[in-house]
Amino acid sequence: MAMIAGPCAVESKEQLLETAKLVETYGAQILRGGAFKPRTSPYSFQGLEEEGLKLLQLAKLETGMPFVTEVMDTRQVDLVGEYADMLQIGSRNMSNFPLLKEAGISKKPILLKRGMNATIEEFVMAAEYILAQGNHQVVLCERGIRTFETAYRNTLDLNAVPMLKSMSHLPVIVDPSHGTGHRWMVSTMAKAAIAAGADGLIIEMHYQPEEALCDGDQSLFPEDFQKLMEELRVLAPAVGRRVVKGELIK
Ligand code: PEP
Ligand code: MN
Repeated sequence: MAMIAGPCAVESKEQLLETAKLVETYGAQILRGGAFKPRTSPYSFQGLEEEGLKLLQLAKLETGMPFVTEVMDTRQVDLVGEYADMLQIGSRNMSNFPLLKEAGISKKPILLKRGMNATIEEFVMAAEYILAQGNHQVVLCERGIRTFETAYRNTLDLNAVPMLKSMSHLPVIVDPSHGTGHRWMVSTMAKAAIAAGADGLIIEMHYQPEEALCDGDQSLFPEDFQKLMEELRVLAPAVGRRVVKGELIK
């Protein structure tokens, strides 16, 4: 199984490098971190943009980890593609068809997150837009959907894992950070996702979650992440998976 981990957003050199070193030490294979952030309010931190991409490149150099980062607009695909190993298309853009086409043309591996209001059928068809451009390196990510429930940020739809795997040959990963919005729920739902057959996880961890500029409430402390990785090393083999560095999607 693949573990993608890192902060919600790239905030500073110290924050990214410290966090990246920790997730690498505990066994993540791929670093995450947003340089262009889709925020509900235009007055919230929007990301460091190209400066953030440069910091991600530095973190890659220091840790050896490839990274995934979000691209929000067709006009950013070339720029982000110059730096990133994998492009993330976020939930709010799952139905941005011009962006999906550009992502397909880019030939970069794409992490496609499920729209918060998207059906499974719509999600699979969004992936098809990328595949139709000849880019077959697509990973599907369940990140929770909007329901009537308000006790958590989103309702993590783990039914999606077996359903997507039956409908598509693409790898399916789960984001229990955005899927719950609560730090204390993240590890439990991460383990549930692997038990449900997910090929990997994407998890927010911050070296100082209380100071985070974005999604601190759902970001794991380093020790939470370390414990989760230890638990996954026990759990994964029970469902035919392994947590091994250097093996990406297995
Ligand atoms: C994120 O990964 O930080 C993010 C914004 O996710 P989503 O698009 O799923 O809300
Ligand atoms: Mn986030």
